[in-house]
Amino acid sequence: MNLSKSLDDKIFTTVGRVADEQQLETYVVGGFVRDLVLKRSSKDLDFVCVGQGIKLAEAVHKALGGQLPFTVFKSFGTAMIKNGEQELEFVGARRESYNRESRKPIVEDGTLEDDQNRRDFTINAMAISLNKRDYGTLVDPFNGIKDLEDKIIRTPLDPKITFSDDPLRMMRAIRFAAQLNFDIEADTFEAITEMAARIEIVSAERVIVELNKIILCDKPSYGFKLLFYSGLLKIIFPEMVALQGVQTIEDKSHKDNFYHTLQVLDNICEATDDLWVRWAAILHDIAKPATKRFNKKVGWTFHGHEDKGARMTPAIFRRLKLPLGAEMKKVQKLVRLHLRPIALSKEEITDAAVRRVLFEAGEDTDDLMKLCRADITSKNQNKVERFLKNFDKVEVRMREVEEKDKIRNFQPIITGELIMSTFGLPPGKIVGELKEALREAVLEGVIKNEYEQALEYLLKLGREKGLEIVNN
Ligand code: ATP
Repeated sequence: MNLSKSLDDKIFTTVGRVADEQQLETYVVGGFVRDLVLKRSSKDLDFVCVGQGIKLAEAVHKALGGQLPFTVFKSFGTAMIKNGEQELEFVGARRESYNRESRKPIVEDGTLEDDQNRRDFTINAMAISLNKRDYGTLVDPFNGIKDLEDKIIRTPLDPKITFSDDPLRMMRAIRFAAQLNFDIEADTFEAITEMAARIEIVSAERVIVELNKIILCDKPSYGFKLLFYSGLLKIIFPEMVALQGVQTIEDKSHKDNFYHTLQVLDNICEATDDLWVRWAAILHDIAKPATKRFNKKVGWTFHGHEDKGARMTPAIFRRLKLPLGAEMKKVQKLVRLHLRPIALSKEEITDAAVRRVLFEAGEDTDDLMKLCRADITSKNQNKVERFLKNFDKVEVRMREVEEKDKIRNFQPIITGELIMSTFGLPPGKIVGELKEALREAVLEGVIKNEYEQALEYLLKLGREKGLEIVNN
């Protein structure tokens, strides 16, 4: 097969010309070739030459004008040119051999064939020649084209060897299946199931990259089901597996919270691409197993699972090597508040209750509402539609109150400093109490968040506490 017509970027003829000048057999390989055949866009281009990758990269860099950002990774024998959005990676073909005693492979110079043998999947092991004599020719030793047509993920060699050489490839198999909506070939999947425990030797940093890519798919439930059935999920994320299962006592069953969580996750993916909101969907019920109780009158309860879930979030983030700053705080907040808007739809909606949710969710209010909508799942479609309708009312109400009171980015008009100077107080507990009382009065609708009203209210509070006004 010749794909020269599809290589429409002039970078390929440039690399090919330079490769001929340098007398280096050169190919574009891996993900780019796969995506080209699938007609998916891909920014990163990997070039392999039989010889020194750095030497080829230097010559290409020069041919492109010598001005583009250029990085050489000497110890890896690779180099990278940044061409606008594009990253061009150059490497010499290599052979990898693994020794059972050591996890680090022995890397030697090799042929194109050696290089293709060390790749993870047939669909990722294809190369297209760039030299003039066979420009555009596809080199596809494992029939990756057929697997692309049949939508199959399969390792080029015996899957047990491929996975044992680098167990992260088990996660990658599932990640590609989820991204491309492919099946994993039976022997390949069986090998993952048998070897799942080997994922433990892979660093958490590498694992989370693949897990996040699964979460960013259009329908992540598919990837999570594969992780679950293969046994990988139990090792990398046992808290999620603990959600699975249905218990029945006296004819009363609760829902399977694992499949519910996956449904919520798929739902939220239709509303947002934000990784952290998606993580909030994954974690929203994570404390259900820990808070589950059976009560003869009401059946199953999970009281406080939202607070406990929020408390579990930092430890989960830490172990999975997810960031512990603002991203984690946002997820934690969404988990903690995920029942609040739903609760509003069940009672008479007072302005004060709406203001409280707006105040606590602040700038994350829209994401909280997305999470709540996603959380409305039931086998009974009528029920879902009824709940969503009720929820529409809550949203309308929230918009009205927000417009009126601007609570979302609420900043108290009376600051701690003003309280201190008014009563001549040093910093201390009483200042905090007065601030909180003012905030409560605004949220409850006793006063508006306006200077005159707030100051008057403050002076009244002060009088009640027997404070002297020193500065008004
Ligand atoms: P994406 O850019 O969506 O992550 P990709 O296929 O380009 O997809 P990369 O992780 O950038 O993925 O890897 C580029 C190529 O390098 C792959 O197509 C594959 O041929 C090879 N590769 C990457 N990681 C491994 C691995 N762990 N084992 C074997 N081959 C790998």
